[in-house]
Amino acid sequence: MSLKPISLENLKHRELQTVYEISRVILQSVDTASALKEIIRLARPVFIFDNVVLYQYRDNQSLAPTYARAVGRGRSIEADMAWGEAFANEVLEKRDVIIRRENLTHGTVDRGTARLNTRFFLGLPLNIGYEALGALVFIRFGGPVYLPEQVNFAQLIAEHVEHLLEKQNLVNRIASLEADRKLDRLQQEFVATISHDLRSPLGFIKGYATTLLREDITWDNETRREFLTIINEEADRLSNLIDNLLDSSRLQSGTLQMSFRPERLDTLLKELAQRAQMGEYNVKIRLNVDKSEVKIWLDTTRMIQVFDNLISNAAKYAPGSPVTISLEWKPEIAHITVSDTGPGIPNDRLEDIFKRFYRLAEYQDTAKGTGLGLFICRQIINAHQGVIYADSILGKGSSIHILLPRNWSPDEKDISKEVQV
Ligand code: ADP
Repeated sequence: MSLKPISLENLKHRELQTVYEISRVILQSVDTASALKEIIRLARPVFIFDNVVLYQYRDNQSLAPTYARAVGRGRSIEADMAWGEAFANEVLEKRDVIIRRENLTHGTVDRGTARLNTRFFLGLPLNIGYEALGALVFIRFGGPVYLPEQVNFAQLIAEHVEHLLEKQNLVNRIASLEADRKLDRLQQEFVATISHDLRSPLGFIKGYATTLLREDITWDNETRREFLTIINEEADRLSNLIDNLLDSSRLQSGTLQMSFRPERLDTLLKELAQRAQMGEYNVKIRLNVDKSEVKIWLDTTRMIQVFDNLISNAAKYAPGSPVTISLEWKPEIAHITVSDTGPGIPNDRLEDIFKRFYRLAEYQDTAKGTGLGLFICRQIINAHQGVIYADSILGKGSSIHILLPRNWSPDEKDISKEVQV
């Protein structure tokens, strides 16, 4: 059917008021579904219909119902959605409004059923410029027929729905562009950071191994041992780095395994300090631990990973400084502090250092690293329902604080679980 252009002139006051309110809904809309719901709610008192279905193109290929409401005579909308799809396709092919009456009556039926079986469809195409978006289909059971001024009003609603969908399309496009750009940037940063860090230990391993394999030189035992020690240390560094990378990507995808058991924190810290003293990090550890038999729920392997990282950071960024590890039991929490007397961290960077890949520019050349260590520490402490943060006085030193709840226990299902971040 060919219709007169949509006009506001013939609208009654109440209809005009409704169109105005619908316009406001579109302006203020943040999500399409609730805006559509509101539009339908506003339109219904001035425009009679029982069901309404919005069909949209999925992946530019086929039409699918994306929104449907049954507001009228107690009918399920599912059956009409399937039929409506063919009707919506027809509307889009013609690119025009279609009105159709369907009579499903077979044999004798009572008056009520007959009424439900006579359906009046009104289909309106939805376009942005020349691009077809979908169709809006109204259904009335048992009439009344759609009068021209009602069709005009329905076209106004359809026009508003077009605006709403256009707005949503733009929002989606911007969000997906932003996500692509962010991912791109992250990947570039990642490759730049990682390739350098992987190459340098590999370079040493290759260099010293090649040197040792030279047949024209005989190395004395001491030199051979020295070269092998370097190869060994660099292989450890490489393996550490790869572990960190894997942890970090598992954290990202939510598949880092945690396994909790009740453990004594004081014993754990003592063992850690002993190991560190034995030369692994070449730092002097001062232990200041409140003894307590209290056990708290810990994943020991992950906790050791946290403290290893904090002690190795102190060794890297505060060389020569002793490291003090203290544990204080408070009524609700265990408060652990790992402090050094190194150059410190600027106040406005105290939070940044826990971000993925973040490294302070001033120490980038003096110490090797990836900026993943503290990020991973924070995820592990979070999984213990704890808190980790840093404080520092420039030129005097830095402290990393860890607060662990004393009375927390993981749910049965979480005793061994994958961490979600
Ligand atoms: P990485 O050591 O691999 O760079 P981390 O995530 O462990 O990564 O640390 C992030 C950054 O925080 C480090 O690059 C460093 O700039 C800063 N940082 C960490 N610990 C200290 C510390 N004890 N003193 C000074 N700066 C530190």
